[in-house]
Amino acid sequence: MATFTHVDFPEFMEDVKRLNPHQPEFVQAVQEVAEDIFDFIADKKAYHSERILRRIAEPDRIVSFRVCWEDDSGRIRVQRGYRVQNNNAIGPYKGGIRFHPSVNESVLKFLAFEQTFKNALTGLPMGGGKGGANFDPKGKSDREVMRFCQSFMTELYRHIGADVDVPAGDIGVGEREIGYMFGQYKRITNHFTGVLTGKGLEYGGSMIRPEATGYGAVYFLENMLKHTGRDLTGMRAVVSGSGNVATHAAEKLIQLGAKPVTLSDSGGFIHDPEGLTLEKVQWVKEHKTHRRGRISEYADAFKGATFHADQTPWNVPCDVALPCATQNELLGPDAKALIANGCIAVSEGANMPSNLDAVHTFRDARILFAPGKAANAGGVAVSGLEMSQNSARRSWKEEELQVMLRDIMDGIHHRCIAYGAQGDGYVNYVKGANIAGFKKVADAMLAFGVV
Ligand code: NDP
Repeated sequence: MATFTHVDFPEFMEDVKRLNPHQPEFVQAVQEVAEDIFDFIADKKAYHSERILRRIAEPDRIVSFRVCWEDDSGRIRVQRGYRVQNNNAIGPYKGGIRFHPSVNESVLKFLAFEQTFKNALTGLPMGGGKGGANFDPKGKSDREVMRFCQSFMTELYRHIGADVDVPAGDIGVGEREIGYMFGQYKRITNHFTGVLTGKGLEYGGSMIRPEATGYGAVYFLENMLKHTGRDLTGMRAVVSGSGNVATHAAEKLIQLGAKPVTLSDSGGFIHDPEGLTLEKVQWVKEHKTHRRGRISEYADAFKGATFHADQTPWNVPCDVALPCATQNELLGPDAKALIANGCIAVSEGANMPSNLDAVHTFRDARILFAPGKAANAGGVAVSGLEMSQNSARRSWKEEELQVMLRDIMDGIHHRCIAYGAQGDGYVNYVKGANIAGFKKVADAMLAFGVV
């Protein structure tokens, strides 16, 4: 008869490190989840004996492929593309595509792992995946981006499908890139299906998809503050990034009465002590998306604003902070500086922007801290709603979707409290999100047996 052997946390992490050498981001993401899950499953034999977490930490499959394209000067370029399909226990794989020079297997495995828990937290039937390529859209012409996207999809199409795997956008992939990829998918397969989300409204996209991640991160922040009897009125907010998530987070902060005072990109950050306005945010959106400009130019355009090259904004005094650029952009010392300067709440618009040291610093200081897998789930949630609209061949109105997004973010907040509230009233949102996401996926996996 098989005996129940209990693998403990250090043994589990040793195994993960040994099996994933040179993949620090992936190991970091697994460790953050495992710290909480081991506590939760300590007295739950089935999760241990069926080795559920160990199975979630081993992607279902990873596809890696060559992407060749010709630049405007006729030179052949060779890039590496990927799709990581982490887990489809509760629905088709779902997660964005990232085009950035830093993309590698470790980064995409961490993102696909995180996505599995995030998607479960939304309450919608979506598994976890992520993909991308080490392609840098910066400085490329429109035609070059189009040729790259077409070549990327020429391989990717055979691995995805409306009921199989439904990619979306992420860093470096917005509506333009989704359009080029969808066009190529349709050309190769002759199928007009909801195989990608983040599409243009003319061909199956959903209202409020572009806004959903940034808006959702602010709704989550608002929920955390409300839970402790406060609101956003008059709060100074430090925001990093200046892409899709950051600009929509800034927009929603302003609409709810807060004052965002920073934005950033990989060149540095701008500080606008008077606060951004809706007009200034609109300028940034157009500047970054249509003119493909840099955030440094904000300081030339608006009096009183300053640009700080090669720096992150975490030393600027604030009440709340929203890291919305990229992973590991907020380190332990940054977390200490935020707390010392009066920050009371952090809501992660980006995926894993705070490293483990920073997460532990926030938790130990007992400030409100929302991990990305909870706070930025609004984007994938509206992507899930885009899938439903495509399947039903209909479009919901903006007001209907706004209500659904708010409901979903409220639901995630409730689930985090259900599993993260401590005896003294403090809510450990990291723990709450990890356990709530894990439990849903784990219970589905138990039902399937050993597969
Ligand atoms: P965008 O490409 O629209 O913007 C990314 C922003 O982050 C840019 O300002 C970019 O600056 C900056 N950035 C990227 N890499 C770095 C880096 N290494 N160092 C400093 N700054 C950097 O991407 P999104 O806004 O869509 O994504 C931002 C984050 O949000 C990512 O972590 C993503 O995974 C996460 N996310 C996005 C969702 C979505 O719906 N789009 C959903 C959930 C999470 P620069 O222009 O200089 O590169």
